[in-house]
Amino acid sequence: MAEPKPPHSSPAGSESAPHTSTSPFADLLPREELDQLSPLQILDLVATRLPPRHPALLDLAYLRDRVASLEDMTDQARQVIEKYEEALTKLRSPAFRVGTFLQSVDPDRALACISGVDYVCRVDPQIPLASLQTGQRVLCNEAFAVVQGLGFDRSGPIVRIDEVLSDGRLRLGGEGGTTPVVVVRSALLAKEKLKPGHEVRLDANQRVALEVLGMGRRIERSLEQVSEIPWSSIGGQDEVVLAIRDTIELPLLHRDLFRRFDHAIPKGFLLHGPPGCGKTLLGKATAWNLRQQIRDATGVDRREFFLHIKGPEILNMWVGESERQVRDLFAQCRERAAEGQLAFLFIDEAESILGVRRGGRAHSILSTLVPMFCTEMDGIEPLSNVVIILASNRADLIDPAILRPGRIDRKIRVRRPDLPGAQRIYEIYLRDSLPLAEPGAELARATAEAHYARRPENEFLELTYRSGRREILSRGDVASGAIIAAIVERAKGLAIKRAITSQSPGELTRADLLEALRLEHAENDLFPSSDLTEDWLKLTDLDPENVVRLGPIRPRRPTPSSVV
Ligand code: ADP
Repeated sequence: MAEPKPPHSSPAGSESAPHTSTSPFADLLPREELDQLSPLQILDLVATRLPPRHPALLDLAYLRDRVASLEDMTDQARQVIEKYEEALTKLRSPAFRVGTFLQSVDPDRALACISGVDYVCRVDPQIPLASLQTGQRVLCNEAFAVVQGLGFDRSGPIVRIDEVLSDGRLRLGGEGGTTPVVVVRSALLAKEKLKPGHEVRLDANQRVALEVLGMGRRIERSLEQVSEIPWSSIGGQDEVVLAIRDTIELPLLHRDLFRRFDHAIPKGFLLHGPPGCGKTLLGKATAWNLRQQIRDATGVDRREFFLHIKGPEILNMWVGESERQVRDLFAQCRERAAEGQLAFLFIDEAESILGVRRGGRAHSILSTLVPMFCTEMDGIEPLSNVVIILASNRADLIDPAILRPGRIDRKIRVRRPDLPGAQRIYEIYLRDSLPLAEPGAELARATAEAHYARRPENEFLELTYRSGRREILSRGDVASGAIIAAIVERAKGLAIKRAITSQSPGELTRADLLEALRLEHAENDLFPSSDLTEDWLKLTDLDPENVVRLGPIRPRRPTPSSVV
C-alpha cells in the first residue's frame, strides 16, 4: 500500500507556509504544480513511488480505472450542462429586429429603417458595408447594430406610381385617402424603366420600391385587339347599326356642322338587350368602322384603343381599388386620345357597377362609383376621340344619372333576331368561300326556317303570367347571334368528321345544319343549367313583375352531377 501519509494536507494546513515542506511529493514537484494535476496523474505519481512488482500496484491500477471512468462521467455531465446553459442564454436573449437598409452613412455605420423609424446603426465589422444593398433586410441586435444581412422582402404592399421624379425617386398616389409618398428605388430597380401607372411592391417599412409588377394587371387584360368587323358582318341589327352611326360617326365626321348647329354630342351610348345578340360585337364594330370612316374622310389613320371591362370584375375588387380602376380607365382613354388614337371604353354588364343606388351589399360601392363615373364622364370633351359604350341586359337598373343628356343619353335596344335577321346571320356564317353543298343563302334560308318554325319539336319554354295565362315560347323566340354562330360551328364539325371517315374532301350540307340545330337544342349549352325562373328571365325581355314561372318544357340533358 502507499505510504501512511494522507494524500492531502488539511485545508488549513495547505494555506500556511510551514506546511509547504510537508506537502506530498514535495521531493518531486512544488505544491502549486501538484495542485494542477488531475487525480489520475496523482495516482500515477503514487505508482512511481512503489517498487516494481509491488503488490499494491495492482490495487492502484484498479483504482486508476475507477477514477478514469469517474472523470469521463464528470466530463460528459459538464458538456451537457454547458449545452443547456448556452441554449438557455439564447432563449433568454431578446429577439433581433429586422430593418430595411437604406444607405451607408460612414464606413461603419448604416441608415436603416426599423418598424417605421430611422436609425443610424453600427455595422458588425465582419459585414462589408459595400455588400449591403438599398432595400434589403438587415438583422439588428439589441443595440440596433446590424449583425447580419438578409435577402429582400418577398411580400409587401403594392402601389401604383404616380410620377417618376427626375432623380429616379417615385411618387406614389394617395389612394383610398392615404397620403401620397415619395420612395426610393431598391438596388434591384435602379436601372428599371419605370412609368406612371406601373405597380410596384414596397418593403415592409414602405420606404423602398422593391419590385415592379407591370402596368395595372387588370387594365392590361382588358385591352382588346379589334379585328376587322365591317357593319356587314353583323346580321339582323340594321336599326342598331344606323343608330350607332348617327350617334358616333356623324358627329366625328361632320364636326363643323354639329358645332354650327350647336348640336349636343353624346359621349357614348348604351346597348341593351338579351345576351349573345351582338352587343360586344357591335361595340367593337363601332371602333373598327369609325377608324375606317375617319381614314377615308381625312386620310388620317387613328389606331383604335379598346378597353373591354366587365362590370362585376370592377365590383369585386378590394376597397378603394374599384374607384381607382375606374379613374385609371378614364385616364388611359384620355391619354390615348391625346396621342391621337380612338379610345373606346366598353363596359359590359354595366348595371353591376352603374346600377341604381339602392340598399344592399353593393350599395356602398355604387354610391361612390356612380358619382365618380359621372364626374369622369363630364371631364371628357365631346369629340375628343373618347367613346364610352355601356352594355347591359338590364338597362332599367342603370342609374339615371349616368343616362342624363351630355353623358350617355343614347339608349339603343338590341333585339333578338327575327326570322329574316336570323337568315342574314346564318348567311354571314355560311360564306360562299366555305365548301358548301348548296349556295350559302339557300342553306341559310332552310336552316333559319327550321330554327324558327312553330313546330312541337321547337317548343322550348313555358311561360306563366301573373294573370294565369300560359304561353309556349319557341326556339326562335330565344334565338341569338351567338346561338346561330354555335350551330354553324357544330355543323362544320359534323362535315369535317364525315370527310375524315369517308376520306373525301367533304361539303357542308343542309342535313349537317339541321342535325346541328337538333343537337344544339338537345344539349342546350348556351342556356341556363338550372330550371330557376330568375335565370331564364334574364334571357328574355319579359317584365319580371308579370311572370310567375318561366322554364324549359322538355326534360333537359342531365348534368354530370345528376347522373348516378
Ligand atoms: P352580347 O355582348 O350581346 O352578349 P356578343 O357580341 O358577345 O353578345 O355575341 C357573341 C358572339 O355571337 C359574337 O362574337 C358573334 O360571333 C355572334 N353574334 C352575336 N350577334 C350577332 C349578329 N347579330 N351577327 C353576327 N354574329 C353575331
